[in-house]
Amino acid sequence: MINKRIIDAHSHIGRDSFHAFVGEIKEYAEKASTIGITDSLVMPAPSPKININNEIINCLWKYNFSKQEFMFNFLGAEYSKNSKACFNPYALANFMLKREILNYPSAIHFYFVPLVHPLFDSLEYIEKLLMEKPKAVKIHGIASGLSPEETPIEFFKLIKQYDIPLIVHTDYDSNQIVNPSSNAWALNYLRNVNTPSKWITFAIKMGIRIYLTHGVRLDHNSIHLVNTTDLFVVGIGPDSLISLEPDRLYYPPSNYLKVLCDSVSIDKLCFDLDYPWNVNKPISKLTDARLDLDFGSIERLKSLGLTQNEMDKILWKNSARFFKI
Ligand SMILES: [Zn+2]
Repeated sequence: MINKRIIDAHSHIGRDSFHAFVGEIKEYAEKASTIGITDSLVMPAPSPKININNEIINCLWKYNFSKQEFMFNFLGAEYSKNSKACFNPYALANFMLKREILNYPSAIHFYFVPLVHPLFDSLEYIEKLLMEKPKAVKIHGIASGLSPEETPIEFFKLIKQYDIPLIVHTDYDSNQIVNPSSNAWALNYLRNVNTPSKWITFAIKMGIRIYLTHGVRLDHNSIHLVNTTDLFVVGIGPDSLISLEPDRLYYPPSNYLKVLCDSVSIDKLCFDLDYPWNVNKPISKLTDARLDLDFGSIERLKSLGLTQNEMDKILWKNSARFFKI
């Protein structure tokens, strides 16, 4: 089976303030070409860490009111020193990545997806981004310290008006954390206010389209809503890492990819690498994330015995329809 077209619907280029992951466009373009990727939607890292004239800027913010206190605890002193970006916090990261991918010589067709912060970005800035007609905009609720409930209605209205889909990080954490002042509690809280069903509820209410990442964490309720409405598609990746984090799935199966492909409609599943999170070791055991990168998900999909038509849908047709590319 040879696919003439493969769309990676969600990967990151750049450094992240919290992780050892570094997404490098050269490495990505080489590895992605090797496995047959022809089109890629790329976005900044969730908490971009950028280098301007040798000054490192973590694209984070100050916390002036209680809602963002969770992230303040989580960040710690080291990260709060450079919290320059209180206003349009990802603007610089977006600008730099867009310039980088537009100028990069590669056979892969890159689509730039801006990262937005619905609370700290001005509506004028978001509208400016939307007027450039990106294929999608990305929200990472954990990195941005917000939930769909805290996302202003005006933001959703603008997204709807321009009819541009959101790519949303979905999460879940089955651990019970007892100490509410700990970093672990803050992270657990943020994961559980960014569950797929919470985003789905808002999307249905507002009539906006969402690409739900990370296999909707195999939440039965979310899978049902995805299968019965036209607003959603589901990203499968990074299947290697998701399989290693069972406490972040509603239903930890022995074969994540198989259960996902058996339960989500074949017209709703989309291939994504989530480079450079496509690792094959638990994050706590990674020493150099680059050494443990895993590019085997297309082969694992093929091993499920899907037909060529089903493979085409997952590998490119569903994304081409949803993102209009
Ligand atoms: Zn991602």
